Amino acid sequence: MKKTENKKILVAQSSMPPFEEYVEMIRPLWESHWLTNMGDYHKRLENELKEYLKVKQVSLMVNGHMALELALQSLNLPRGGEVITTPFTFISTTHAIIRNGLVPIFCDIKDDYTIDENKIEELITEKTVAILPVHVYGNVCNVQQIEMLAYKYDLKILYDAAHAFGENYLGKGIGSYGHLSVFSFHATKVYHTIEGGCVCVKNQEQYEKLYNLKNFGIRAEDLVVSVGANAKMNEFSAAMGICNLRYMDENIRKRKLVFEAYQKYLSECKQITLNRYREGLEPNYAYMPVLFESGDMRDKVYLELRKENIYARKYFYPITADAACFRNKYRLHALEKARDYSKRILVLPLYAELDLAQVERIAGIVQATVRGKR
Ligand SMILES: *Cc1c(COP(=O)(O)O)cnc(C)c1O
Repeated sequence: MKKTENKKILVAQSSMPPFEEYVEMIRPLWESHWLTNMGDYHKRLENELKEYLKVKQVSLMVNGHMALELALQSLNLPRGGEVITTPFTFISTTHAIIRNGLVPIFCDIKDDYTIDENKIEELITEKTVAILPVHVYGNVCNVQQIEMLAYKYDLKILYDAAHAFGENYLGKGIGSYGHLSVFSFHATKVYHTIEGGCVCVKNQEQYEKLYNLKNFGIRAEDLVVSVGANAKMNEFSAAMGICNLRYMDENIRKRKLVFEAYQKYLSECKQITLNRYREGLEPNYAYMPVLFESGDMRDKVYLELRKENIYARKYFYPITADAACFRNKYRLHALEKARDYSKRILVLPLYAELDLAQVERIAGIVQATVRGKR
């Protein structure tokens, strides 16, 4: 066996800018000793991201989860209010709701894994205060219908756009939808700042609110204007973000090649369903979700890949509504599709530097397994 075939392949691999480039970026920090607290790189990255994401303004955060928590908090929703959300997401989305003293109301999903906008209305009660959908795998939610519902019932919309960095939908930056949208810049995401995230805001007032929430409400040496946490992004992360942003378009281009190679090898395979992007979306090719005919088949493929040192992920399994810590705590409505998909879904490795020969090998293992040849 060739040496490369034994190399561990994980579902994602953090993109790295050229080492020297990053070193050059951080060298000035040894002069200034200014390592955090809204330094030069923090300001610069907020501006660069605003342009790249095509949004009004960006507030950088220490990570995507705190961005979600503080974005929700900044909406001043009444405690105990109900937030309609999807259970087919990373646990962070649900935790952010609960840690804000709000109640998650889980809505089922549709074929593209995003929240089923046609099932939202029946979940709305007099306690409903917001909708928190997720652009899962970079698939954009039905933003128009969700906006109409929010308008009709006077609800806030917060998008968890952690998977959707850099995407445009109908010519607009995906972060410009909803009252607020949140991105994660975790090391495993399409774009990263090692750890990090941001909230996309629409006006200066929202920006100031988030500034206070991420910096203890401190506005001057002797002036604390509100209660706040500490969720600032440091200068090393911001520097990494500035470097990585230069390579984003190239990164997405390479991801597209990997995605297309998977399509080529797997689209004829009857036992599986591949992800399809919605018309009008410029995707980022963040993930390669594959839906199998049965849960047993998914589990078998997962194990067969594992035997070859390939680490696909059962992402998202279980659904967040079924997490051990929430058991019997929240009102659960029908979540058939979310539960069914979560048992049959597998996310295959996809990252810019993934060799196309490896894609062929991974697809080959998937095919052989579903055809009972492994
Ligand atoms: C990654 C992720 C988050 C959390 O972001 P962190 O930066 O890891 O805190 C939230 N929601 C979704 C859907 C994610 O994938």
